[in-house]
Amino acid sequence: MDGNTHAAEVTGREVCLWLVKHLLEGYGEDDEITGILDTRVFYVLPCLNPDGAELYLTTLYHRTGGGIPNPEWEWRPGLTEEDVDGDGEIVKMRVRDPNGDWRVSDKDPRVMVKRDPDEFGGVYYKIFTEGVIRGYDGGEIKMAPPRWIGGTNRNWPERWKPESRAYGADVPLDEPEARAQADFWRSHKNICGGLAYHTHGGLIVRSSSAVPDSELDIKDIATYEYIGDIGTRLTGKAKYPSVSGNSSLFTLDPAKPRVGTAKDFFFDIMGVYAWTYELWDMAGMAGVGNFEERGGIRFTRFENRTEEENLRLQEWNDEALGGEGFVDWRPVEHPQLGPVEVGGWKQKFTWRNPPTIFLEEECIRSGTFMLTYAALTPRVELVNAEAEEVVPGLYRVRAIAKNQGFLPTNVTEQALKAKLAKKVTMEIEAGEAELIMGGKKMELNHLEGRSHKVPGRFYTPLGPKRGPPGRFFGGMFITGGGDGSLQAAEWLVKARKGTSVTVVVSSEKGGVDRKTVSLA
Ligand SMILES: [Zn+2]
Repeated sequence: MDGNTHAAEVTGREVCLWLVKHLLEGYGEDDEITGILDTRVFYVLPCLNPDGAELYLTTLYHRTGGGIPNPEWEWRPGLTEEDVDGDGEIVKMRVRDPNGDWRVSDKDPRVMVKRDPDEFGGVYYKIFTEGVIRGYDGGEIKMAPPRWIGGTNRNWPERWKPESRAYGADVPLDEPEARAQADFWRSHKNICGGLAYHTHGGLIVRSSSAVPDSELDIKDIATYEYIGDIGTRLTGKAKYPSVSGNSSLFTLDPAKPRVGTAKDFFFDIMGVYAWTYELWDMAGMAGVGNFEERGGIRFTRFENRTEEENLRLQEWNDEALGGEGFVDWRPVEHPQLGPVEVGGWKQKFTWRNPPTIFLEEECIRSGTFMLTYAALTPRVELVNAEAEEVVPGLYRVRAIAKNQGFLPTNVTEQALKAKLAKKVTMEIEAGEAELIMGGKKMELNHLEGRSHKVPGRFYTPLGPKRGPPGRFFGGMFITGGGDGSLQAAEWLVKARKGTSVTVVVSSEKGGVDRKTVSLA
C-alpha cells in the first residue's frame, strides 16, 4: 500500500497510517486481524512524494508536483497561481467580459452558470485561477508552466509512452522514488497485490488503464471485478464504484489512455491485482450521486457541473461546513487586469481532501480494503503428512498440500501468461534417512483457490481443467478433475525406525508450511 504519490493527495498517507494503527491495535484483540497478521505481511509506504507534499501543506500553492523547481517557470510568461488578495487562499478570479462563458446564477450569487451558446445581452465573465500574470501584454491570458515539476505517477515502464513526459519523466523510472519502489516490489516475490491511495472522487480503479478489457484474460477480469465489488461494499452508503482505468467513466478520450501507471506495472509485470483508490467524494457527500451516477470523471472539472449540481453543493457547504468551503466573490484590484472579483471553492480540504471532521470516517470507509484483500491471498498448508512402513526399514512418506486461500497460488492468469508465477514446490528433508524414490524437491502445479468459482458478470468456463482422475506418476500425485486446490507428493525412504523426516511445501505467493513425520 502506498499514499501521497501526488503532492496534493495527503489523505492517502492518513489512510495508510490509519491502517497501520488499526492493525497494531487489533492484533491480539480482533480475531480477523490477528489471523491475517499471523499469516500475511503488509508493506506500507505512506508518503511517496515528501517534497511536493511538504510544499502543499506549508504554502498556499496547489500545483507543487514533485517539489523540484522548474527552470522554465523562471522565465516563461503567463498566469501563475498566487494569493492576489492576501486572504490566505488561492481560489478563482472572475473578470467581466462581453465574450465571457459564464454568468451569475439567479438562485445563488456564489454559483456561476455556463452561458448558453445562443444567450446574449447579459453580464458575462471569464474565470481564471487566482494569480498574477507575468509578462502580460494585454492579449490572451495563458497559463505559465508549473512552478514545480516531478512526481512518480506516470513514471512506470508498463506501456510507457512519451506523453508520460507531461508528468515529469523523460524515461520510465527516472525518478529516484519510483526506481526505489520498483526495486523493492520486484525483490519481494511474496507480494500478492497492491493499492495506491490517491484523491479524489470516490472510486476504486483496476487495471488496465492503458488497454481495454479485450486485452485481459476474462478470468482475471471476473476475479478483479468480484474483489473490486467487495471494496465498494466496504464503503457502505458512499458506494465508491469499482471501474476499469480504461473505462469511459475514467478515461474520457480513448485516444489518450493513462499509460505508465504503477497499477499496470503491478498487474502486467508482477502478475498481481492492484488498484488505484481515489479517496474522498465531496460531491457524493453532498448528495449529487456517486462517481458513476454523476457521469464519471467529467464531473471533476467545474465547467461540467450543472447549475442544479452547484446549488446542491452550496447547500451542503452551508449545512456541513458552515459555508467555510467557499470564498464569497468580492472585488479586488488586480495588478495586471484592474478590477476583478476573487472567490470560489477552496480546494485543499474540501474537494481534494476531506475537511478534518470527515477524515476518520474516510479512513474507516477506505482503509480496510487491503485487509480484506490480504485474507483472500493464497496460503499453502500441508493438510496431511504421514509415513507408512512398506517393508521393514522402508517407508512411504506422503504429504498433501492445499491452498487455503481464495486466490490461486499464481494469483492471476496474467502471471501464468507472462511466465511470472513460480510453481509450488514440495521438498523432503530426509536427515539420516536415505531417499530411495521421489525427488528431494519436486515441482507441483499451481494450486487453485476458490476464485475460479466466483459468480462472474460474464459467462466464463471458470472451473479447473477437466482431466483423468488423480494418480501417482513418477513419485508425484497429479491432480485430476475436481478440486484443484490439493496436490500430493510421495517418497520412499530407507531409515531406522524412530527417525524422522520433514516435508516442506513452499509457494512464492502462498508462503511456506512444514511438517515433521516420525517413521514408526
Ligand atoms: Zn493522484
